[in-house]
Amino acid sequence: MNMQKQTVLIVDDQPTNIQILAVSLSPYYEIMASTNGADALEILSRPIKPDLVLLDVMMPGIDGYEVCRRLKDNEETKNIPVIFVTSHTESLEEEIGLNLGAADYISKPYRLPIILARVRNHLSMKRKTDLLESLISLDGLTGIPNRRKFDEMLDFEWRRAFRDCTNLSVVMMDIDHFKQYNDNYGHGAGDECLKHVAGCLPTCVNRPGDLVARYGGEEFVALLPSTNADGAQAVAERFVTTVSELLLPHCFSSVTDHVTISAGCATVIPMQGISMNTLLQHADEMLYQAKSKGRNRVYHM
Ligand code: GH3
Ligand code: MG
Ligand code: MG
Repeated sequence: MNMQKQTVLIVDDQPTNIQILAVSLSPYYEIMASTNGADALEILSRPIKPDLVLLDVMMPGIDGYEVCRRLKDNEETKNIPVIFVTSHTESLEEEIGLNLGAADYISKPYRLPIILARVRNHLSMKRKTDLLESLISLDGLTGIPNRRKFDEMLDFEWRRAFRDCTNLSVVMMDIDHFKQYNDNYGHGAGDECLKHVAGCLPTCVNRPGDLVARYGGEEFVALLPSTNADGAQAVAERFVTTVSELLLPHCFSSVTDHVTISAGCATVIPMQGISMNTLLQHADEMLYQAKSKGRNRVYHM
């Protein structure tokens, strides 16, 4: 479990209010601050996000309600707990805030120990949610992302590539003669082999958006955004070479004396009338070709 200090973003148009909260929270948490809604949204759009937002309701420009609405509307920020800190005492205001999806609502004048306790409780819940989120995305045996994560990212990157008219590539991989491996070395050894192969594949990619996942059994898949056919082919060659260089003994393979994989590449600029499945099917066909041409190789159009 990641026990790094969690980060709290304090948003208030009065710098003195920010200061009071920051002083009492900073021994326990990393603190970020902004004095208006627009800056807060900018901070929340960055790749590394705060774990909780303490949000003033009344601010000139984009008010706290609007900031909360936008956070809860966005897939990437909707799980960040928002606590409203406000001078409104009307229960109707509290109702509005909570109905927008805020985790909590604290009225001024407040007692700092109460704020501290509420922040601590919500952050502890956030840690558990984050842990669960990461667990459902990872393959239990190999520890790399699973098919569920791959499908989720494929959907995300497909829509992005569609909007931006950019290339999206997929590399499908499959261990050669793995049934022979299992049958001769045993299922336990097979599992160890899968872990070694899974461990080396991510070292072959280096862009932030690249994803390598276990697709099922002894199949792996790579998602390569903004990558053209030549780029995908180069990465696929690296996968095949890197696995071969592990030199994991496999005396029952017809290819060579160690474990190898085959890979198929497909690239597309998503547009109306093409589906994600077409891309995956194409990569699968290329993988099939790599197998029939002799394995331990990449095949592409
Ligand atoms: P090819 O070179 O054509 O890919 O042949 P292959 O033997 O690798 O392909 P096949 O699909 O016939 O066999 C896949 C084998 O992978 C079947 C099963 O024994 C093994 N396998 C699938 N998942 C796991 C797993 O989680 N652990 C282990 N140990 N083996 C697995
Ligand atoms: Mg297979
Ligand atoms: Mg296989």
